[in-house]
Amino acid sequence: MSHTGSSGGQPGPQRTTGRATAPSEPTRAYAELVAGNRRFVDGAPRHPNQDAGHRAAVADGQHPFAVIVGCSDSRLAAEIIFDRGLGDLFVVRTAGHTAGPEVLGSVEYAVTVLGVPLVVVLGHDSCGAVQAARESAATGTAPSGHLGAVVDAVLPSLRRATSEGVDDIDGIVDIHIAQTVETLLGQSPVLAGEVARGRCAVVGMSYRLAAGAVRPVAVVPAGLATLETPAGSPESTDPAAPATV
Ligand SMILES: [Zn+2]
Repeated sequence: MSHTGSSGGQPGPQRTTGRATAPSEPTRAYAELVAGNRRFVDGAPRHPNQDAGHRAAVADGQHPFAVIVGCSDSRLAAEIIFDRGLGDLFVVRTAGHTAGPEVLGSVEYAVTVLGVPLVVVLGHDSCGAVQAARESAATGTAPSGHLGAVVDAVLPSLRRATSEGVDDIDGIVDIHIAQTVETLLGQSPVLAGEVARGRCAVVGMSYRLAAGAVRPVAVVPAGLATLETPAGSPESTDPAAPATV
């Protein structure tokens, strides 16, 4: 993790220097991610900001426009699926996008110090962490070692799925994504405050491994998806509307 970029000790995030094109508003940041995912899905990526010139340009400071709290799954590489490059995304990944103290601290750093306007929780179909938690709950056995911490962090989502009558793995994944969005906001008053002020948004997205497309499943504030997804979303024909939490 680099230092604060160009803020030079000033108290608030400064985004007027460095890359002038970095989206500084939640709606623009969200639209940028959706557009990049569409390019990836269509097989027409631009691979922006991956050249040597840009590498040198961002060496003195970073101005990412989105935080990605994603599952560690090797098929979920954020810069690839959103067609972005160096300095664009502040990525925090754990198995099953579980959000413990270090994850929360990393998100707060990005949002408050770097001034990032968008936090994305990125889950995916057939998630192994969710499957492991499901098997653990079904058999009543806890995994050995620290894997137990991952399973424990997913279990509340399993209980919620059960209470809502959801039994299929991908339905449970969607609930776990929404649950992680709620965890971030519930456990981080800092993040919740930034969202309440309209300076930041939190979006839960579900990624489909085979298709490569993301779909919003939880959006805070709700208006963000209403503004940006109807025409340009990779899965705009999906009848399932994103839930708000
Ligand atoms: Zn996963």
